[in-house]
Amino acid sequence: MKILAIDIGGTAIKYGIVAENFTVEKSFEVPTEAHLGGPHLMQKIMSFVEKHAEEVDCVGISTAGQVNSELGKIIFASENIPNYTGIEIKKTIQDKFNLPVRVENDVNSAATAEAKFGAGRGFHDFLCLTYGTGVGGALWINNQIYTGDYFSAGEFGHIVTHTGGKKCTCGNNGCYEMYASTRALVNAVKEATGKSLTGREIFAPEHFNNVTVRSVIDNWIDEIIGGLSTLIFIFNPPCIVLGGGIMNEDYIISEIDHRIHARSIHSFQSVQIKKAELKNQAGMLGAAYLAKQALGI
Ligand SMILES: [Zn+2]
Repeated sequence: MKILAIDIGGTAIKYGIVAENFTVEKSFEVPTEAHLGGPHLMQKIMSFVEKHAEEVDCVGISTAGQVNSELGKIIFASENIPNYTGIEIKKTIQDKFNLPVRVENDVNSAATAEAKFGAGRGFHDFLCLTYGTGVGGALWINNQIYTGDYFSAGEFGHIVTHTGGKKCTCGNNGCYEMYASTRALVNAVKEATGKSLTGREIFAPEHFNNVTVRSVIDNWIDEIIGGLSTLIFIFNPPCIVLGGGIMNEDYIISEIDHRIHARSIHSFQSVQIKKAELKNQAGMLGAAYLAKQALGI
């Protein structure tokens, strides 16, 4: 049995053939060209399926945007991918290729992969957050993704942490991701130093050891912890898995771990703070796992 796994991100699409034991046998990466819009993106997806339809038994898709995972349909996507909202990925593929298809949101797919193959192994429950342009979230509860009433649970990036604060893309003010995302760090460093640095550059020794930059980083880590504290009070999770490229900087995870465990509240002391393990393959592996699970074999 083989699975075609497709991971649609804002800048790149990764896709490949995944074996029954979830080893990735072949993988490819192409630009998303998100600005060309949803219908163009759907054509790309169809071309990948066409190329591999003969060699796979099902298709698993992880994608940016909110997904109705029962219908395999995009129920909301931001303007990063114009006209993606409403696209019926599952139906379009099934009608043409007669293959079983499972579509899931990207953070939910990544959390599923972490639960089965990565940092969440052995936990019945954990929270997963990814830090990048925004902050994505997923809830793994009772060994499965908790999607909420309309597939929108776990939007941790839009918890309001600063009432009346910065305007967010969701229309609200003061959302967590306006203060705790990688983009928020990049903007804060620019404001303090006048330098436009990427997340990775900020952690290069010449900047990281600069007093001003370090103080911006430390404040940003406090913003991350502010949101996590709310989640710890609500869920009392045994584990929180943190992903996104920026989390590869060990300083961040160790500071979060240290500062959270310094609080004398049991739920803060018992929670394990872990770095996501699967990196680039998380979306594909999660989508592949969910597609196979949907087959019921
Ligand atoms: Zn928001």
